[in-house]
Amino acid sequence: MSVCVATLALAAAVAAAAPASSGVDPGSAQSPIDLRRSEVTFVKHLPTIRFAYPRKADVTLNNTGSPGEEATVRAEVPAGAASITLSGTTYALQQFHWHTLSEHEIDGRRSPMEMHLVHSASDGSLLVIGVLIEQGRANRVLARIFDALPETAGETRPVTGVRIDDLLPDDVSSYRYTGSLTTPPFTEGVRWIVLAHPITLSKHQIQAFRELFEDGNSREVQPLNGRKVFSDAGRRGHDD
Ligand SMILES: [Zn+2]
Repeated sequence: MSVCVATLALAAAVAAAAPASSGVDPGSAQSPIDLRRSEVTFVKHLPTIRFAYPRKADVTLNNTGSPGEEATVRAEVPAGAASITLSGTTYALQQFHWHTLSEHEIDGRRSPMEMHLVHSASDGSLLVIGVLIEQGRANRVLARIFDALPETAGETRPVTGVRIDDLLPDDVSSYRYTGSLTTPPFTEGVRWIVLAHPITLSKHQIQAFRELFEDGNSREVQPLNGRKVFSDAGRRGHDD
């Protein structure tokens, strides 16, 4: 009998320590999700996001472990350089990074890439702005970053004068829900704002990133489990 208890305890310990990729459910309010427009709650006005993004910032690119599926190239932003305010809370921009393919889907469709701008408030709460990336015109703001992507794990490179205020589409209507980080430790309680309108990168720029992450670096969509998604994008949203 005591052997059985010990075995069970060991099994539980192994399960608790196992990474999510082994099939252990890390939680019930995870990201990314498929944004199904027929199931989204459309509202005319969502709380306004006030952007305090600078015209120019010096960032440090950091390859966090290519070609790992949970790695990326991250642009680290100096403390205090950029922030947003939403419903009275200010969130400082910590870093932005990319995934290929996109992590969020709209009506079951993935975009070639997705950019995440990760912010945190003084109480440690997290807010991520997700921007879908379609293939199209070359992105001038990101050109210098995508020309300088650090190619090996752990490599860093400085890039000066990045126009963070030009990284977003003009129309910042969005889908909003509460989810999680999409990489370990998959922390929940993250406020997600996925913009309804994409930005574009050229085929060449997308290829430059894909070469570092040939097997992709995105997590599959997670079940909604009754969570509500709110949007001010209008029913046509992404296709406008
Ligand atoms: Zn991300």
